[in-house]
Amino acid sequence: MSTTERPRILVVGGGYVGLYAARRILQKMRYGEATVTVVDPRSYMTYQPFLPEAAAGSISPRHVVVPLRRVLPKAEVLTGRVTAIDQDSRVATVTPLVGAAYEIPFDYLVVAMGAVSRTFPIPGLAENGIGMKGVEEAIGLRNHVLEQLDKADSTMDEEIRRKALTFVFVGGGFAGAETIGEVEDMARDAAKYYPSVRREDMRFVLVDAADRILPEVGPELGAWGLEHLKKRGVEVYLSTSMESCVDGHVVLKNGLEVDANTIVWTAGVKPNPALARFGLPLGPKGHIDTTETLQVRGSDHVWAAGDNAQVPDLASGEGAWCPPNAQHALRQAKVLGDNVISALRGFPQRTYRHANKGAVAGLGLHKGVAMIVVGKAKIRIRGRLAWYFHRGYHGMAVPTWNRKIRVLADWTLATFLKREVVSLGAMENPREEFYEAARPVAAAGATAVPVGAGNASQQRERAGA
Ligand SMILES: Cc1cc2nc3c(=O)[nH]c(=O)nc-3n(C[C@H](O)[C@H](O)[C@H](O)COP(=O)(O)OP(=O)(O)OC[C@H]3O[C@@H](n4cnc5c(N)ncnc54)[C@H](O)[C@@H]3O)c2cc1C
Repeated sequence: MSTTERPRILVVGGGYVGLYAARRILQKMRYGEATVTVVDPRSYMTYQPFLPEAAAGSISPRHVVVPLRRVLPKAEVLTGRVTAIDQDSRVATVTPLVGAAYEIPFDYLVVAMGAVSRTFPIPGLAENGIGMKGVEEAIGLRNHVLEQLDKADSTMDEEIRRKALTFVFVGGGFAGAETIGEVEDMARDAAKYYPSVRREDMRFVLVDAADRILPEVGPELGAWGLEHLKKRGVEVYLSTSMESCVDGHVVLKNGLEVDANTIVWTAGVKPNPALARFGLPLGPKGHIDTTETLQVRGSDHVWAAGDNAQVPDLASGEGAWCPPNAQHALRQAKVLGDNVISALRGFPQRTYRHANKGAVAGLGLHKGVAMIVVGKAKIRIRGRLAWYFHRGYHGMAVPTWNRKIRVLADWTLATFLKREVVSLGAMENPREEFYEAARPVAAAGATAVPVGAGNASQQRERAGA
């Protein structure tokens, strides 16, 4: 970290809001006007709408992330977590990946820490569930699903086989519906290469506490999406929830019980719980309370936006908050960036106002729904055309030309060369085989395994689960 005489603009989080706000500030800033410091535990921004396609192998996982240091060459990028903020003395504590925590002073603060998976104390969920918030989870899910096909194809035990071929997804919003759509598509495709596994042998289950799925695209398209998934053989259970999943034994509130090696949790998000330590005003659900200028209420030098903030939705009317989505995050980030520059120069703040432009969702190759708002009209599209809208929109929205071109290349190659169906689960612990070869001979008969060895499912298997 550099020491500087210039005012420091500290951006906490390098996701959608953090990346775009820092970029905007740097674009508008005069030479030497301020130092922009971005802190994030990851050295990259994740384009989350592409996670389901990364999980299905349609896009290389590397292409859904954007390296912060490359995109923000004029910013100071620190890889670590902001763990405390002293609002009175304007000092933040950064805990780096390694080494002791340190403090950095700031003059202006942008809080963009996003959201985390919203979970409940369900027995077995922490041990058996997998989320869909990061690229690591998307890679893990893809490897895990393909590994289940490997297992099912190589066992004579019907019980093991059935459990391996059962996939439960909890949550039918954007993330859940898109992920089950993409993963079912991939598994159906992959089954062609497994002599003893057919699509009919696999069981895909989607569970949601609400009475519909895909609320983001409205009731009509949501209903179409539901029927579409059912036609593809997905069992959908609505108005119910998962009560427990100890050792992969899933019990639903409606009485259904099913054994599954794969439990994907996509039941919504909640604001980053670390916000509670920062002494900022929070709303009823834990979001930072901001005004329509994206300033934190009661402050003139702190801004917040995106999934961790409750921003008044002026386009929807009194008392409404902007929903947590990329559409708002991106636009808020730009207004936020401009407002930080205005504060730096003593100019007035701009208000944030954005009317919903619609939503698109992909449900696997050539399948999707799209709701496009034109003036007061809502155009609803489904099937292949909607899928083209989905790809077109996200292909253009992913940050940087580098990523747009790489994603387009992935899609084009997949059209001609078919998608990859190899599981690289061992990648999660590349040292395991070498450890077995190199460990001292005296210990060779021992069953000890290095801490953290193997992926989650391998560890569970060793433990006899
Ligand atoms: C699977 C999935 C699919 C989605 N699909 C769509 C879609 O199709 N359309 C749409 O509009 N929206 C979609 N979304 C939602 C959209 O991605 C989010 O609304 C958007 O990413 C929010 O941006 P953000 O900057 O608030 O948070 P994020 O982009 O999540 O960024 C938060 C950043 O803060 C960092 N951070 C966390 N804690 C700390 C800390 N203590 N210190 C420093 N940094 C920290 C994180 O590492 C992260 O980089 C999807 C989300 C998911 C998960």
